[in-house]
Amino acid sequence: MNMFGRRKTISFRDAAEATHWLLVAVGEQHWVSDFSKHSNGTTQGFRSVYGGMGSFNDLVICRANKHTIDAAHEPLANQLLQSLSSICYATSQNGDLSAQDALASCGTTGNELHGWLCRDCGYGQVTREDMLAFAAFYDVAQAIHGGITSGSFLGSIQSLWKRLDPDENVSRFRPTAERSGIAYAESTGWMRPCPQCGGNDTCVYRWSFDGRDFTPSSDNLAMKTS
Ligand SMILES: [Zn+2]
Repeated sequence: MNMFGRRKTISFRDAAEATHWLLVAVGEQHWVSDFSKHSNGTTQGFRSVYGGMGSFNDLVICRANKHTIDAAHEPLANQLLQSLSSICYATSQNGDLSAQDALASCGTTGNELHGWLCRDCGYGQVTREDMLAFAAFYDVAQAIHGGITSGSFLGSIQSLWKRLDPDENVSRFRPTAERSGIAYAESTGWMRPCPQCGGNDTCVYRWSFDGRDFTPSSDNLAMKTS
């Protein structure tokens, strides 16, 4: 408790309760009973959900897996799942965490814009889905931080879920991407051939965001030098 009487940490109970809410919201059948069992804060037996093949880590929320969800919520749902799952695990092991430590336990996966690059002419492209996944990383991190520091974790996650505006999320980062030389396309699937030069040497590509610009991540395939 701080001087205002609100905890500025997150407990295992808070994290399990929010995960349970997410699983119910998307109609996940298999794992919901596990989290129902643990949403009162009981950690006993919890870590077994992470063990082995087909464990909780392998869950993907999507329409193809018969979840009750629209396409626009899929990137947000999976980013939430990944982050909440990490916080559940960390709090089950280490007890209550500060906002900073909770976010650190979620790692940096998702903190990159994914798309395609033509290795012949350097044309880069991202799709709507790529943009939504990138925005989800930022929004989830913010909702986790805000939820912990305000003492209303579940409310913060629910509010993010309700106010999701996919068009706004695309338009928020699109000008920055375009300024960084990355085109936006309403397409899906592979970018091959290249829409700019017609070449077939295209590859998946990642850009890092420094808060202002997107720059190629260091672990990409190199551009051809000619
Ligand atoms: Zn090209």
